[in-house]
Amino acid sequence: MALIVQKYGGTSVGNPERIRNVARRVAEFQARGDQVIVVVSAMSGETNRLIALTKEVAKHPDPRELDVVVSTGEQVTIGLLCMALKDIGLKAKSYTGGQVRILTDSSHTKARILSIDEAPIRKDLEQGNVIVVAGFQGVDEQGNITTLGRGGSDTTAVAIAAALKADECQIYTDVDGVYTTDPRIVPEARKLDRITFEEMLELASLGSKVLQIRSVEFAGKYKVKLRVLSSFQDEGEGTLITLEEDQNMEQPVISGIAFNRDEAKITVLGAPDKPGIAYSILGPVAEANIDVDRSVQSVGHDGAADFSFTVARGDVDKALKALDAAKAQIGEHVIETDSSMAKVSVVGVGMRSHPGVAARMFRTLGEEGINIQMIATSEIRISVAIEEKYLELAVRVLHKTFGLEQQSGA
Ligand code: ADP
Ligand code: ASP
Ligand code: MG
Repeated sequence: MALIVQKYGGTSVGNPERIRNVARRVAEFQARGDQVIVVVSAMSGETNRLIALTKEVAKHPDPRELDVVVSTGEQVTIGLLCMALKDIGLKAKSYTGGQVRILTDSSHTKARILSIDEAPIRKDLEQGNVIVVAGFQGVDEQGNITTLGRGGSDTTAVAIAAALKADECQIYTDVDGVYTTDPRIVPEARKLDRITFEEMLELASLGSKVLQIRSVEFAGKYKVKLRVLSSFQDEGEGTLITLEEDQNMEQPVISGIAFNRDEAKITVLGAPDKPGIAYSILGPVAEANIDVDRSVQSVGHDGAADFSFTVARGDVDKALKALDAAKAQIGEHVIETDSSMAKVSVVGVGMRSHPGVAARMFRTLGEEGINIQMIATSEIRISVAIEEKYLELAVRVLHKTFGLEQQSGA
């Protein structure tokens, strides 16, 4: 008998028939003697609909109330799934995040899980219930409803699996595993049987939304056995996210390509080139709680520095405000913004032992006439910022150059 946590994303519970299908799948696991905890997302499109609704009543919706509204999507699906389970003869019980007591901090819309009370779940499991938990939501010390950021149901599932020491956490979605890149952009993308935590963490943080980044962090930290599978196929092992030492196969140099459209570049032109200038610019931006991605500084003949960095498009106004408040420290300067940037990254642990990946990437983009505006590297990834209009072309040519397609890459 195994204890399994299964998470079903929005498309997998997108209509009544699919919810009944999830119930059937859960029933098969229970019939095998497994104990099952199910985490569900809202029905597909529902979270977007709720967010749009809040924006129709307020220009800047209050974060506490925003969480009250957007968390309702998952409350609907836990109830519906439990009804479907009972309808086919299973014992089932739904829990909202607050009812489990998934305790989080109070950062509304991007809360972090602090602890999970496993006792009530264990008791219900022992009595033969399937437990159905609302993803994406928790409750803070004061009892306020919080949410965990877009895609947060993945993190709910992994956190529950960690708290209950589950044998496996299965993320059911609309693709049958993690691919070399988003199969919606590159149909030749290849499914990976395994990928290391380290690589998955990079891919998730660089824009591959198949898993929320925090879920991968959690799984790595608490050694949760994590697998991505399709809820639409009965066969298949999906993709296992593994510790590197589990792998005894030869590593490919590049495992995957991630991309992110949501990038904007801010350039501070003509700032004085003096010690501390980078801090005068980036310090206030970081204090405003904005993630800065790549940054470059170049100095012209006149001794003035041009300093560029990228942020998420939604953070541009906040970043400009922070820079405006710090203008006395920065000195004379002009600011330019460009909200049509995108980022493409190649990721692979094999890069450690194979130099030359960067050169190959830059040559390929150059041959296609794609201008690289910024570059950032770590031990196992290389990211470039390019104009958004070249994004899909860049992903396709890099996918080919690094031999990741189905036919040649296996
Ligand atoms: P869910 O609603 O089940 O959480 P998501 O839309 O969050 O599903 O994640 C699944 C989607 O992630 C896929 O449909 C796919 O388009 C996208 N995706 C992006 N990068 C990858 C990748 N490397 N491998 C697989 N899917 C990817
Ligand atoms: N429903 C939430 C979202 O759309 C959480 C999730 O699906 O994981 O972001
Ligand atoms: Mg998701």
